[in-house]
Amino acid sequence: MDSFDFALIGAGPGGYVAAIRAAQLGMKVALIEERATLGGTCLNVGCVPSKALLESSELFQVARDRLGEHGIGASGVQLDLAKMMERKSRIVTEVTDGLGLLMKKNKVTVLSGRGVLAGGKKIRVDNPQGGSTELEAETIVLAMGSVPVELPGLPFDGKKIISSTEALELTEVPGRMVVVGGGAIGLELGSVWKRLGAEVTVVELLPRIAIFSDVQLSKGLKKELGKQGIEFLLESKVTAADISGGEIKVTVDGKAGESELTCDTLLVAVGRKPCLDTAGLEEAGVTIDQGRVKVDHQWRTSVPNIYAIGDLIHGPMLAHKAEDEGMAVAELAAGQPGHVNYDAIPNVIYTMPELAQVGLTEAEAKEKGLKVKVGRSYFKANARAKSLAEEEGLVKVIADAETDRILGVHILGARASDMIAEAVVAMEFQASSEDIVRTCHAHPTLSEIFREAAMAVDRRSIHG
Ligand code: FAD
Repeated sequence: MDSFDFALIGAGPGGYVAAIRAAQLGMKVALIEERATLGGTCLNVGCVPSKALLESSELFQVARDRLGEHGIGASGVQLDLAKMMERKSRIVTEVTDGLGLLMKKNKVTVLSGRGVLAGGKKIRVDNPQGGSTELEAETIVLAMGSVPVELPGLPFDGKKIISSTEALELTEVPGRMVVVGGGAIGLELGSVWKRLGAEVTVVELLPRIAIFSDVQLSKGLKKELGKQGIEFLLESKVTAADISGGEIKVTVDGKAGESELTCDTLLVAVGRKPCLDTAGLEEAGVTIDQGRVKVDHQWRTSVPNIYAIGDLIHGPMLAHKAEDEGMAVAELAAGQPGHVNYDAIPNVIYTMPELAQVGLTEAEAKEKGLKVKVGRSYFKANARAKSLAEEEGLVKVIADAETDRILGVHILGARASDMIAEAVVAMEFQASSEDIVRTCHAHPTLSEIFREAAMAVDRRSIHG
């Protein structure tokens, strides 16, 4: 039986990053993955293909609807969906193949098959072609990620009632799409298909979309998506779907009672659940708490030498959170002080405009009994935003009223996903709003809006 220092079950961003970091630290590493390619949800059916389609569909929409304001005439803009999908798939192949090379470079042994805890330090790997092998490892890390949640009574059929995975693979633009769930995945994929020509209605159970965001920004995002033609039914619940003659009749229970929507495609994006049933967790005695693998502050499960990271455990289901935990757990196994700052994990919705945030919202800060000062600055007051013709949005900085330390930053606007990085660094270094004000920002850039918002914390913004 082969022996390893460090073995991972699951090769998503949590697992593969942990594998590379452990190998860098001199460990003999095994990475077990049951999918045919490495990279997990993120690279295969998540972050990467969704962003490829968001980028392509945004370009299509800009070319079709918005070039005129730049004085560019572009008539006859046409969609070649097959080519758009081909590009997306090529990007996925490039990044997943790239991971294979990275594993070779770092001398990580990749084992193809389902990894199942087999007692003590042992893992059984069930090969897809049949048969199994066993290995043992001093440290085992569970990184099996998550899968889409179905609606009760409405199982995915992969054609009409679909999850995000199929929504990344459609070969025709649906005439009408109902999206259940106004979170990141529903809004992003709803945006893709709206931009490409579908009529899109988002049905959301809660009173607002992007529920984890700042209220002002989530309302702003809804308004902007509404202008793009996406319809919203809030405080509404899909209770049934009846498929007949190629159409789906969707029953919605909302504020005004029951109503019916007709569509060709029902995208269910109501969340994801940890993958708890593939690796023999119960038999191995790994404790599950509120649907997630229970870990302590150093990602140790209830079983000695078994750790868990990523979507399997508490916290936001985000690729970069999984990656950071992966690095930390490898460092701990090497006797180093692995650490993740959960207060500074950014969260982005890649719609148009984008919504990006880090740290506390104003409401959360107040719930914690903190006294806050809030500074806002708007994209329309920024010259670069005007040049880009992206004047909608704002940056909101939440600072502690006594210490001036930045507690949270919330951005709605073009390129918020890139802008948030500065705020994350600021929070990681425990910056005050004054620190941002004293930092020179290149002109003209969108980053100046962050500085202006920091200035606005003490009511001294220069440009309004
Ligand atoms: P995963 O990436 O889910 O990987 C787990 C792997 O384990 C899978 O490949 C699975 O096949 C494998 N596995 C499971 N059981 C076994 C077993 N027993 N043996 C062997 N292998 C097994 N996050 C972001 O941060 N930014 C985004 O923009 C973003 N966009 C997203 C868009 C979509 C459409 C979706 C669905 C998700 C998106 N996410 C995004 C979330 C992100 O993909 C996940 O948070 C991230 O992939 C979690 O990483 P992980 O390593 O925990 O697990």
